[in-house]
Amino acid sequence: DIIGVRSFVLITGASRGFGRALALELGKVVGAGSTLLLVSRSKADLETTKEIVRDARPGLAVELVCVDLSTADKEVFEKAVRAKYGSADHEVAIIIHNAGTLGQDGRKITDLTDIGEMSEYYRLNLFHVICLNSVFKGCFPRSRMVYINISSILALQPLTTWGHYCGGKAARDAVFRVLAVEQPESTVLNYAPGPLDTPMVEDLLADQRTDPVVRTMFEDLKRNGSLLRPTDSASILVALLRKRNFKSGDHVDYYDSSSKEANKAT
Ligand code: NAP
Repeated sequence: DIIGVRSFVLITGASRGFGRALALELGKVVGAGSTLLLVSRSKADLETTKEIVRDARPGLAVELVCVDLSTADKEVFEKAVRAKYGSADHEVAIIIHNAGTLGQDGRKITDLTDIGEMSEYYRLNLFHVICLNSVFKGCFPRSRMVYINISSILALQPLTTWGHYCGGKAARDAVFRVLAVEQPESTVLNYAPGPLDTPMVEDLLADQRTDPVVRTMFEDLKRNGSLLRPTDSASILVALLRKRNFKSGDHVDYYDSSSKEANKAT
């Protein structure tokens, strides 16, 4: 079992939005003696997440590390994980790569020429993920490994002015598919959480540079109540892990999975 056993769970981008919801929902179901390690830049917001988690699961070990994932390297990651994992004899080690950015400010792909800026985007949204997975695996030689990529429908579909986002998400899916092939004993999942009511969406609507097509799309989702509550999508991810009804390396969308849940209930 992945759920309900003594686990070490690292969640990036846990200071707000979907990462906070993941911390809450996983915090409720991990086994006794588990540890959550929450990572982002904002200490104060991570503290708030910790309070929310501990209200739901009093006494659970919740560790916080402030790391800028756009600049961190192997040494920073090793220090962050090794300082917090205690004896490292957790039955399961779960890493959830949730931190992500949009990063294109309404510009089309043909407006982009700054390779330094592109490198920065891909370092935060792709390269650190590969590095952190390797470090994480090295830290838990005796644990069953679970690697989760928070993906998006936009790993599979285009959206104007989101070339970086689509490129980063598609590449991450591909990397995690390779991980699944290279590590058949591990569990690997690319989870697309659906459109979420999070600060990321608020930020893009508040940004004057957002492309009109994108703005209308998200305004419509918001207006007609289609933005999901982050905790609802996080619960579906927990249900997926519990049932393991996917092939390691698969891309699973909230909507595939929640409709299966609904069909079973009827
Ligand atoms: P969000 O509200 O913008 O939160 C992003 C998180 O990433 C924050 O906790 C932020 O923490 C962290 N982060 C950003 N830059 C960082 C950096 N340089 N170093 C460390 N942490 C950093 O986003 P969200 O909507 O919750 O999205 C979470 C994930 O779901 C993303 O991967 C996103 O692509 C994916 N997703 C979202 C939607 C949606 O509709 N919202 C849909 C599909 C997929 P700090 O600012 O404290 O560092």
